[in-house]
Amino acid sequence: MFESLSSKLGGVFERLTGRGTLTEADVTEALREVRVALLEADVALPVVKEFIGRVKARAVGTDVIKSVSPGQMVVKIVHDELIDTLGTKGVELNLSAAAPVVILMVGLQGSGKTTTSAKLAVRLKKDRKKVLLASLDVYRPAAQRQLEILAGQAEVGSLPIVMGEMPVAITRRALDVGRKEGYDVVILDTAGRLHIDQELMAEVAEVRDVAQPTETLLVSDAMTGQDAVTLAREFNEKVGVTGIVLTRIDGDARGGAALSMRAVTGRPIKFLGAGEKLDALEVFHPDRIAGRILGMGDIVSLVEKAMETIEKEEAERLAKRIEKGKFDLDDMRKQFGQVRKMGDLKGVIGMLPGVGKMAAAMKDASVDEKLLARQEAIILSMTMAERRNPDLIKASRKKRIAAGSGVDVQEVNRLLKQYMMMSDVMKKVSKLGQKGLKRHGIAG
Ligand code: GDP
Ligand code: MG
Repeated sequence: MFESLSSKLGGVFERLTGRGTLTEADVTEALREVRVALLEADVALPVVKEFIGRVKARAVGTDVIKSVSPGQMVVKIVHDELIDTLGTKGVELNLSAAAPVVILMVGLQGSGKTTTSAKLAVRLKKDRKKVLLASLDVYRPAAQRQLEILAGQAEVGSLPIVMGEMPVAITRRALDVGRKEGYDVVILDTAGRLHIDQELMAEVAEVRDVAQPTETLLVSDAMTGQDAVTLAREFNEKVGVTGIVLTRIDGDARGGAALSMRAVTGRPIKFLGAGEKLDALEVFHPDRIAGRILGMGDIVSLVEKAMETIEKEEAERLAKRIEKGKFDLDDMRKQFGQVRKMGDLKGVIGMLPGVGKMAAAMKDASVDEKLLARQEAIILSMTMAERRNPDLIKASRKKRIAAGSGVDVQEVNRLLKQYMMMSDVMKKVSKLGQKGLKRHGIAG
C-alpha cells in the first residue's frame, strides 16, 4: 500500500518541476496527496486540517533545492513539520518526586495497559528501581491475576490480591505497602471500558486524587482511528495526562493516532509498545513514526541527501580556496551564510588537514545574526572587482559602499579590518595545511 501511494505521489511531483521557490499552486497540489496519506494513516480529520494549514503557511515561498522537485520539497517540509508536531524524542519518565513515585496507567480496555505496566516495571528495574505493580481492575475476574503473573515474569513486586476490595481502597493499600516496604515506584494499572463512559472517568479521577500520580500515562492502541481525538481529550480533561504510550506498533497500523493524540493533548508520546513480550517497549522516536504516518520515506531521504550534498560541496569549495591561500571578500560573504548554518568558522577550517588547534582557536569567530546581515549587505554593495581585490577600496569607494548598504564608513572600515584579520588567519591556516599535507605525503 505504501509503495503504490508513493509512486502515485511521485507522479504528481514530477509534474511540478522547474521553479525556484515553492508557489502556492505547488504546495496546494502536493498537499492534496499528503492529506490523503494522513487520512489513510488514520490521523483524525480535524488534526489533518489544522496540520495541512500549518504546513502550507510554512512551505509557500521556500527555496527548492537543486536536483529536487517542488513536490518532493513539500514532502520534506511535511515530514519535518510532522516531527516537530510529534515532539522531541526521548522524553523520559518523570520520577522526580518523593518515593514511592506513582505512575497511573489509563486507557480503554484492551489498549495494552496491563502489558505496558509490566514492561515499564522491567525497564525501571534495569535502572535499579524497586517497583510495585498493583491492579485496580476489579471488574474482570482474571485481570488482577494477569498482572500478578506478569509481575512474576518481570521479577518485580506485586500487591497481594484481596478479593472484593474496590479501586480506591486498593490504591491506598498500594501506597501504604509502597512506603513501608521501600518501593521506589508504584505502578497503578486501572480498569478500562470498551468505550469512554463517565463512570470510568469518575473512578479514575477518584483514584488520581488519592494517588497523586507523578505520571499519568494514556495507553492507546496504534489502530485507534478517528476516535483518538475524543479519547485523548476526555482523558486529558477528566483525569489529566502527562504522557502517551502507543501500543501495537508491531502491527500494520500506520499510527496516525500518535499525531492526533499529541495534537489534542500537547503531551509527549513517551513510549511505543512493539510486541507482547515484556522487553518490547521502545523509547519514542518521532522520525520513525513520522516516516510511518507519511509513508514516503524514499522521497524524504532523497531530499535529505540532496541537502547534505549541497552543504558539503560549498564547504569543500571554500576549504579548497583557503588551502590555496585565496580568500577574498566574496568568499567571506559566502562564509557568512555557512556561519549561520555551522555556528562558526570551525566547520570549514576543521576540514583542512593538520589544523585542529587553529580550529579550536577560532572559537570566537562566531558572530551575531544582525551583524552578519549588515556585513553581508556591505559586501553586496561592492563590485566584483572590489571583492576580488580589496586593495582597490579607497576612501571614495568606501563612501559609495557605505551609502549603498546603509551603514557608515566606520562600519565598512571595521569589516575590511575583520577581513584582513581573517585573511591573515587563512594564510597561516593554508601554510599549516600545506605542511600537514606534506607530512601525510599528499602534497609535494
Ligand atoms: P488492557 O486491557 O489495557 O490492560 O490490555 P492488555 O495489557 O491486557 O493487552 C491486551 C492484549 O494486547 C494482550 O493480549 C497483550 O498481549 C496485547 N498487547 C499489548 N501491548 C501490545 C503490543 O505492543 N503489541 C502487541 N502485538 N500486542 C500487545
Ligand atoms: Mg488490563
